[in-house]
Amino acid sequence: MPHTHESEEHQALREAVSTLGKRHGRNFDPDQLWADAAKLGYLGVNLPEAYGGGGGGISELSIVLEELGAAGCPLLMMIVSPAICGTVIARFGTDTQKQQWLPALADGTRTMAFGITEPDAGSNSHRITTTARIAAGGNWLLTGRKVFISGVDKADATLIVGRTEDARTGALKPCLFIVPRDTPGFEYRRIPMELQATEKQFELTLDDVRLPAEALVGDENAGLLQLFAGLNPERIMTAAFAIGMGRYALAQAITYARDRTVWNQPIGAHQAIAHPLAQSHIELELARLMMRKAAYLYDAGDDVAAGEAANMAKYAAGEACVKAVDQAVHTLGGNGLTSEFGLASLITAARVSRIAPVSREMILNYVSHQTLGLPKSY
Ligand SMILES: Cc1cc2nc3c(=O)[nH]c(=O)nc-3n(C[C@H](O)[C@H](O)[C@H](O)COP(=O)(O)OP(=O)(O)OC[C@H]3O[C@@H](n4cnc5c(N)ncnc54)[C@H](O)[C@@H]3O)c2cc1C
Repeated sequence: MPHTHESEEHQALREAVSTLGKRHGRNFDPDQLWADAAKLGYLGVNLPEAYGGGGGGISELSIVLEELGAAGCPLLMMIVSPAICGTVIARFGTDTQKQQWLPALADGTRTMAFGITEPDAGSNSHRITTTARIAAGGNWLLTGRKVFISGVDKADATLIVGRTEDARTGALKPCLFIVPRDTPGFEYRRIPMELQATEKQFELTLDDVRLPAEALVGDENAGLLQLFAGLNPERIMTAAFAIGMGRYALAQAITYARDRTVWNQPIGAHQAIAHPLAQSHIELELARLMMRKAAYLYDAGDDVAAGEAANMAKYAAGEACVKAVDQAVHTLGGNGLTSEFGLASLITAARVSRIAPVSREMILNYVSHQTLGLPKSY
């Protein structure tokens, strides 16, 4: 894809990551790729230089994830570890938390998972019930359940979104806690998923998990601001994940359609094959423009405008990805379903970007209410 709207630095980063991605390819070893990407400074590209990072932002980190995805080797945990957890700690953590986590997240030696989703709350985060109580000695006691939390088995800790309650209104006051994996009372169980991915999803139970006062990231009274400082990068990075995957699938289909001949010309000469591929290319390119806008606004510190753009980018990228993968599989005919070509498993993988981290419908709700000023149905 052309990227004329990008700076030379961004183009150079894109090309360098693409080279790394192509070296690893579709049959990549995620641990090896994680280590290689970290060594080259790609995982910590958004983290502050003072803590071992590259001093860039979500713009740079999203380029890294998109290009790895386009090469067939996306790293899902990039959405979580450097983008959500790294950003939140860099923006709101204490100096000790920064020292303890940022250099290790940047050099890839440690990773952090992120848990907000709950079985009885789902898309309605205001209903989460994981509750933090203050115990003797200034400790916290955290109790609750989470579902679909990615990468908990490998992550050194999980950043858990709990709540303290506003005594007057009962409204959600989210607060974020770093919970090391081996903390007593913290248990995780793998959820069998119909996904071919190395990152697994887990159900968590937290039963009076005792944490020191320093486990709290940021201010317990900061409200939604600190949470969205992590959720907006998550949406932008999910867009990057989806665009990368869509580009990968589309490239396979284009290569195939140029060669495969069952009449007199390659199947790519039939407009029924060519036009949907062209449409997908346009839709991915448009989604990428929106993603770049969202990343730009976020990095510029405009959290409010970035929120709207991040939602729109995630929506556009998720839809473009689902469509591109569907069309790619179809373009390959029977080969679209073979293990040799490896495209069919992307059908499930592509759907993740439509449902997570915020579903298509919840984004349409957001735009209906926040942008268009229409009334709410719920
Ligand atoms: C592979 C994968 C990895 C994940 N990793 C993580 C992770 O690391 N950490 C984490 O915290 N979470 C993670 N999640 C969870 C993900 O964020 C949730 O699945 C998502 O937020 C949707 O919540 P839900 O599954 O409970 O669906 P529900 O909220 O139950 O929604 C079900 C359906 O109803 C629709 N719906 C709900 N409310 C409305 C409404 N008001 N109007 C219209 N439609 C509505 C939704 O759009 C959806 O289609 C992951 C999920 C998957 C699949």
